[in-house]
Amino acid sequence: LNPLFANLGTTIFEVMSGLARDHQAINLGQGFPDGNGSPAIVAKAQEALADRPNQYPPMLGLPELRQAVAAHGARFFGVDADWQSQVIVTSGATEALAATLLGLIAPGDEVVMFEPMYDSYLPIVRLAGGVPKLVRLAPPTWAVPEAELRAAFGPKTKLILFNTPHNPTGKVFSAADLSLIAELCRAHDAIAVCDEVYEHLAFDGTKHRSIMAEPGMADRAVRIGSAGKTFSLTGWKVGYITAAPALMPVIAKTHQFLTFTTPPNLQAAVAWGLAQEDGFFQTLGQEMQRKRDLLSDGLRRLGFDVQASAGTYFLTVDIRSLGYPGSDADFCRRLTLEAGVAAIPVGAFYDGGLETPYVRFCFCKDDSTLTGALDRLAPYL
Ligand code: PMP
Ligand code: GLN
Repeated sequence: LNPLFANLGTTIFEVMSGLARDHQAINLGQGFPDGNGSPAIVAKAQEALADRPNQYPPMLGLPELRQAVAAHGARFFGVDADWQSQVIVTSGATEALAATLLGLIAPGDEVVMFEPMYDSYLPIVRLAGGVPKLVRLAPPTWAVPEAELRAAFGPKTKLILFNTPHNPTGKVFSAADLSLIAELCRAHDAIAVCDEVYEHLAFDGTKHRSIMAEPGMADRAVRIGSAGKTFSLTGWKVGYITAAPALMPVIAKTHQFLTFTTPPNLQAAVAWGLAQEDGFFQTLGQEMQRKRDLLSDGLRRLGFDVQASAGTYFLTVDIRSLGYPGSDADFCRRLTLEAGVAAIPVGAFYDGGLETPYVRFCFCKDDSTLTGALDRLAPYL
């Protein structure tokens, strides 16, 4: 058995969702909306199921979706990319990340990453033979520690892998953060791979910026998106990569033997969705911001120390003020079993797991789910 995977636990999202199911808890753990996604896009997929071939689409994705991804990136984030040489469709951002990392990393290459980080990153970096150089974002604002980041780059650095807006903290990387990362990539001839799945979920007027639009980065960056987050359709697993032209051929080669393609009907519907007018995407962000406020205000009223969240589906709380003696993992387990509300320990987003005072709650839920969770927490606390 491959020890890299044999020794890994089950992903925290599945563990906590399983526990929530077993104990009829309200699931504010794993990040998925309650609803059934955007009805207009679901209707487009239904049409496409009936009218279009249900056979393998082109390996790199339907041309109409690749064109839509390029046009959407230019429209919202100033990323100019040629759809034929720079865009491919993948089965979710998870495959996009795997295809990118397996294609770009050679054994022994160093890969700079921030902790906390999304849990699929490290196993794939290690599978590729990459050597992680981990830099911890500094709580409670999750600031990028400049000196540590500079020190993490060196002659063996192949790439930096990061995520903004950031799961699990809700941090949106600032212009200064991106400019520092770009400067270091240029100075060390390194690539930036950025997971931008929450690109339309930045709140309070904060703007998501793409590393690919930074000076000198168009030739050394990869950006990853997902229809799961942009259209609240997490089960569809339609993702997309926009990459510097020189990087795309090798990514296409890993993609061809990971999944080869993605369901054509879903691709057609997502192409239609990405071409929606600006208001569609603004409404998505505003609605999510309203839900963030509903949950944050409610948790604060109950005495939780809620941390700022500028984006994503998530907010975090600092459990120290509750006087709870155990770890974040124990806290989440007990909250699920005893209060009937599931959450995710932020410690699960560190290499090998770490005890932290932070717990992540997901707010991309129906209002009734959020208020139901608050009702259950009130008598428990
Ligand atoms: N990256 C981040 C930061 C995520 O939160 C998620 C989960 N939604 C993914 C990647 C995976 O996305 P997908 O479901 O499209 O594979
Ligand atoms: N991205 C989701 C989260 O952070 C989970 C996706 C998954 O379960 N793999 O909650």
